[in-house]
Parts: sequence; structure tokens; C-alpha cells
Amino acid sequence: MKTYPNYGTIDGSIVMIGFGSIGKGTLPLIQRHFDYDADKFSVIDPNPDSAPFLAEQGITHHQVALTPENYRDILGKLFPEGKGFCVNLSVDTSSLDLMKFCREIGVLYIDTVVEPWAGFYFDTTENAERTNYALRQKVRDEKAANPGGTTAVSCCGANPGMVSWFVKEGLMTLARDLGREDPVPSDRAGWGKLMQSLGVKGVHIAERDTQAREKPRPRDVFVNTWSVEGFIAEGFQPAELGWGTHETWMPETAHTYDTGCQAAIWFERPGAITRVHTWCPTPGPQFGFLVTHNESISIADYFTVGDAANPEFRPTCHYAYHPCDDAVLSLHEMFGAGVQQKIHEILDVDEIVTGIDELGVLIYGHEKNALWYGSRLSNAETKALAPYQNATGLQVTSAVLAGMVWALENPQAGIVETDEMDHVRCLEVQKPYLGPVEAHYTDWTPLQDRWEHFPEDIDESDPWQFRNVLAT
Ligand code: NAD
Repeated sequence: MKTYPNYGTIDGSIVMIGFGSIGKGTLPLIQRHFDYDADKFSVIDPNPDSAPFLAEQGITHHQVALTPENYRDILGKLFPEGKGFCVNLSVDTSSLDLMKFCREIGVLYIDTVVEPWAGFYFDTTENAERTNYALRQKVRDEKAANPGGTTAVSCCGANPGMVSWFVKEGLMTLARDLGREDPVPSDRAGWGKLMQSLGVKGVHIAERDTQAREKPRPRDVFVNTWSVEGFIAEGFQPAELGWGTHETWMPETAHTYDTGCQAAIWFERPGAITRVHTWCPTPGPQFGFLVTHNESISIADYFTVGDAANPEFRPTCHYAYHPCDDAVLSLHEMFGAGVQQKIHEILDVDEIVTGIDELGVLIYGHEKNALWYGSRLSNAETKALAPYQNATGLQVTSAVLAGMVWALENPQAGIVETDEMDHVRCLEVQKPYLGPVEAHYTDWTPLQDRWEHFPEDIDESDPWQFRNVLAT
């Protein structure tokens, strides 16, 4: 029988909030890698569908939705000893409120996104308030107001999450390949200086998901490889990106900030219909969607050199996401119709017949042009590595595992984002689940894949201007 590394004991209760695609995939990793008291493991999820499965696993299911009114009472009762781990993998619960409460009672906390309470994404009419900048800044303000204390890991999935560790690995790879002998930086200032001195202009979180099943997507069904609800919500948020110091042009409807970290801009258009030119190893040049993500802001913020308002250096950073083909068609149908499909389907590991999730960081603008560093995990390999999830899921759940290990080893680190964690340790835990993790250099630039019949408004003096990356 295969044995797995044991990463220690979780003392007290384990409460998982949300048992959807990511919750179900995280469960076997917790079971494999930690010791804990099985009687104290419970799941909170209003959906009755997983009740039989949870009963089989001997896990108590609290079939209830957390709300602003009930969360303190419910969680308080589930952590009677004031110790343990709260693993938040749900939609529609406020990450900020939950992490504050967990820290108040001394319970470790982790999530994969700064999630708001139900209603936020669609009921708020002011676009500036619907940005990830606004959501993230509140967590950063809480960190600044209450530094240290019980560890709460914010946004530790694949992206946001793992990709922040890939940026650091990618920078070290680039430094080595340029014949430099830089030591691994030990703090934020050192990482910013390293990125700046390497001549990097920006980072795409460049993803191509080629997973597919045999059955064609039926009309009026939204198909994805992870939460449909989560993807629609983020896709409807305004396009948003970390804004680098090398940029000379901005989209006409762009907004900047004069409070907070000031590392990002957003513009008046949903991210999921805003296309960018990008590059991944399998397809080469491709379109990705400029869907807003926490890491676009956190990476731009983390690697800033100098003053927030007037930095000496900052990289541009954004997501460039080509979801699975069925999801592209689903988005096309949804935005065209102006209404959401009522039926949602997440491609199951056993129905997928082909494909990989190729998720990495394209670090560009330097002497070697561009370096893609990332995981190229296939669904077939995923099946052999861990149950109940497809390749997309495993890239996320293994990051949750790494974040939990880091939190157990650093229980008094306060509120942290993945940029602020030990990337070497985290990747050491995560890599066995990532399939091939590879570095690929490319001479592609966003000036290359153009149709000469239709001249565009581009800046030929610098291929890596966002003006060239944004597809018109
Ligand atoms: P899912 O839609 O499959 O599952 C979400 C679950 O949350 C559902 O089972 C639902 O019943 C439950 N839920 C809804 N409201 C709740 C409430 N008020 N209280 C408790 N549970 C509630 O989603 P998923 O694919 O498992 O994703 C879960 C979360 O992880 C989402 O927020 C998603 O955005 C995030 N995510 C992050 C990454 C990353 O890489 N960082 C990747 C994928 C998903």
C-alpha cells in the first residue's frame, strides 16, 4: 500500500465550509496527510447531495448555509475548545468575517479566494465596489490593523495561490539561466529588487484548460471544470489588473486608485468578455480572458519597489484564462443571451476523455523575452494521484494542502497571502500532485499574432505594452 508523508496533527476540530468540487477533492488529501480526531471533523454545506457520501466517510454534515446572522453561533459551537482548523471552500460566505472570527477564537483558517456574502457580486450596482481590489484591500486593512496572531491564510488555491510560488520559482530559474548567482531573496524587498534587476515587465497567469468529455455541451447548460457559480461571479466583475510602471497607455474607461496599495486598475467591462493575447506551451499563442483575480493585484503589490503611490518598479500582472472549450461556449451563450443558464455542470474526472490543465506564469519583458513556468497536469494522471477531482481541482486542492501544512508549521503568522509564505516549503508539499512542472522559454510577443488585413492600434516600440496585449 502506498504511504504518504505525514504533516502532523491537527489538534481540535476540523470544519470544512462548502463541499463542492474543491471541498470534495480536498477531503482525501486531509485524510492522507494529517492526524486528527475523526469525531471532530464536520462539513457545513446547505446542499443535501453530498450527505450520503459524507455519511459513508463518517463525517458529520451540517446542512445549513452560513449567513452574516448565524456564522458566529454555528462556528463557535463547532470549535468548543477554541482550537483546530477552519477550511473555507464555499461560495457566498465572507472570507473576511470568517477569518476574523477564527482568529478571535484561536482557530487556524484557510480559504482560496476573498469571497463576499451572497448578493455582493450581482446586487451591488457600483462597479468600483465589485472589484477584487476592494475585497482584497479590506483583508489587507484588517492585517494592518491587527498584525500577528493566529494564522489565517488568504487565497491559497491554484490561482490565487500556487501561481505566486511559481513566480518566485520562475524568477530563480531565469536568474540561473542568465548565468547569475542570486541567492533566494529572504524578504519582500529582496524579491522586488530581483524581479526589477532581471528586467521583468510583467506576468500573465497564463492558463489553457483542454479537458473535454465525449458528449457535446447541450444548449442552455453552463459547463466548467470547477465552480460554475464562482466562475460566473468573477467573470461578471470588472476587468482588473496589476498595473506596471512600464505602461505608457491605459484603456479609456480605466480607473486608478489613490488609497490602499494602489497596485491595480480596473475598467468598465466584464472580465469574461475582455480578451488578451497570451501564450501557453500547448497551444502557443492564444486568446485568454482578462478575468479579475486576487493574484493580479497581490503579485503586482508584492513585487513593487518603492512608494505605493509613486513606485520605482512594479510589474503588470493579470490572468489570461482560456477555460475548457465547453466553458468558452457557455460564456458565449450566456453573455449573448444576457441571462445565466439554469443548469450548471462541472466536468467529472470519470467523464473527461482527454485534456490537461496547463496553468503557469508567463514572466515577460526580460533579456530572454518570456518564460512560462507552471504545471501541465492531465486528467489521466490526476486519476492516479488522488480521488474525486479533475486536473483543475487537484491543482487547487494540493495548494490548500500546502497552505494547511504551512499554517500548522507557522501558527502565529497572522493574516498572510501566498506571496508572503515560504514558497519552497509549499511547493515541496504540493509538487507531487502537480504532474509535470516545467519551464518553457518562448520568443512569442503580443505583436506577433496579428492579422495584417486589419491594422490595430498598437505600440511597436515596446511589444510588452498592455496596449498590445489587450485584444480589440
Ligand atoms: P462549488 O460551486 O462546486 O461548491 C461550492 C459549495 O459551497 C456548494 O456545495 C454550495 O452548496 C456551498 N455553499 C454555498 N453557499 C454556502 C454557504 N452560505 N455556507 C456554506 N456552504 C455554502 O465550488 P468549488 O468549485 O468547490 O469552489 C469553491 C470555492 O473555491 C469558490 O469560492 C471558488 O471561487 C474557489 N476556487 C478557488 C480556486 C483557486 O485556484 N484559488 C479554484 C477553484 C475554486
